[in-house]
Amino acid sequence: MHCFTYKKSELYAENVPVRKIADTVGTPVYIYSEKTLLMHLTSYQQAFDGYPSTICYALKANSNPAVLRLLAKNGCGADVVSGGELYLAKKAGIPSEKIVYAGVGKTEDEIAAALKARILMFNVESSDELKAIDRVAGKLNVKAPIALRVNPDIDPKTHPYISTGLKNSKFGIPIENALEYYRLAKKLRNVEVLGIHKHIGSQITSINPFVDALKRVILLARNLREQGIEIKNLDIGGGLGITYRDEAPPLPGDLSGAVMPLLEEGGFNLIVEPGRSIAGNAGICVTRVLYLKRNPEREFVIVDAGMNDLLRPSLYEAFHDIRPVLKNNRKKVLSDIVGPICESGDFIARERMINRAVQGDLLAVMSAGAYGFTMSSNYNSRPRAAEVLVRGSDFFVVKERESYKDLIRGTKLPAHLK
Ligand SMILES: *Cc1c(COP(=O)(O)O)cnc(C)c1O
Repeated sequence: MHCFTYKKSELYAENVPVRKIADTVGTPVYIYSEKTLLMHLTSYQQAFDGYPSTICYALKANSNPAVLRLLAKNGCGADVVSGGELYLAKKAGIPSEKIVYAGVGKTEDEIAAALKARILMFNVESSDELKAIDRVAGKLNVKAPIALRVNPDIDPKTHPYISTGLKNSKFGIPIENALEYYRLAKKLRNVEVLGIHKHIGSQITSINPFVDALKRVILLARNLREQGIEIKNLDIGGGLGITYRDEAPPLPGDLSGAVMPLLEEGGFNLIVEPGRSIAGNAGICVTRVLYLKRNPEREFVIVDAGMNDLLRPSLYEAFHDIRPVLKNNRKKVLSDIVGPICESGDFIARERMINRAVQGDLLAVMSAGAYGFTMSSNYNSRPRAAEVLVRGSDFFVVKERESYKDLIRGTKLPAHLK
C-alpha cells in the first residue's frame, strides 16, 4: 500500500502534485509519504498487538532524521548496525530500551557507545565479538545484554546479495554450534545472555522461510532452557518483501499469523526488525529526462538520477517501476533508462516499454524509499539528492540537496600543495 497515485493524469504524493515538488526542489529528489510510513508501522504494531513485542525498525533502509523522528513518535524501536545509526536513533528520540544492535564488525568504540546508551541488546555475530563486548563491558563496569545471532541455514529464495541465513553467509553463527557459543557467553563475567537473534535475508516473498527458520530457533531456545540458559528475547529479524513489480509478499499480519502459533508456550518477548516493508513503498525517486539517444539496438533515455543516487538496479539488477509524473498518450517504446555516470552498469531500468520520453519529462522511480538514499554516494563528484517528506497537502525538505562545497567538506591541502 502506498500514497503515490494519479489524480486525473498527474502523479501525486498524498495530496501534493509530484511535479510541484520537482519544480520547487529540483531533481533528482526522494519523496517520502508520511501517511504510508505510518500505515506500515501501524500494520506491524497491530499484527503483533497482544503479544509482548517490540518493532525495531532497521535504520539502514532509510535513516533520514525526519523519517526516524516520525517513527519514534509513534512508538517504534530501532535495529542499528553501526555507531552512526545508534547516534541517529538516539537523536530521533528512540528510547534505548527499544534499540538492538547487529552487524559482524562492531568496533570497541561502537560497543562502548552502545553500552553507555544502555541499549536493549547486542546481536552478537562471532566469539571474537562476544569477547570484545565482555572486555569493553568490564572496563565500563556494566553487564552487556546480548543475544547470539544464529544462522539457521534456511534459503530465503531471494537475491544472493541480500540472503543472509545460509551456511556460506558471513552473518551469525551456525545454529548447530550455537550451544557451545552460549556456554562461552554464560562463562563471561560481563555479559548477560538475554536472547536469540536471526535474520535470514531481505525481500522475502513467501512465509515458509520465516516459519522454517523460527522452528529451528525455537528448538534451540528450548534446548538452551533445558541447559539452564534462559532466553527472554526472541528476535526474528526483518526481511518481509514488498511489491516492486508483481510480487505478492506476505503482510505483517500474515507473518504474525504464522509466527504466533509457534510461540504459544514460549513466553518470549518478541522483537521484529522490519526495514524495507516500512520504508520501501513509502518513497519514490523523481528524476528528469535530460536527453534521448538512439542506438541501432536500443533507445536510451538519459535521466539526471544515476547509480550514485539509486544503486539497487546496478547492484542487484533490482526492478523499479518507472512511471511518468504526467501521463501522456505517446507511443510506447522499448527503452533503457540510464543515468549520467561514467559506468556501463549505471542504469535505473532496462528494456522497459514506456511512453516515448521527451526532454524535460519527469519520471517517478517507484518503491525507492528503502535502500535508496541510504545507499547513495558522491561518485562522479555528484552532490547527493534532496529528500522531501509529504504530509497531506504539505511538503517539507527534510534534507537539502548537497552543494559543490559539500564535496570538499573535511578535505585539506598539505602545505606543499597550497
Ligand atoms: C537489514 C536488516 C534488517 C532489515 O531487513 P529488511 O529486509 O529491510 O526488512 C533487519 N535486521 C537486520 C539484522 C538487518 O541486517
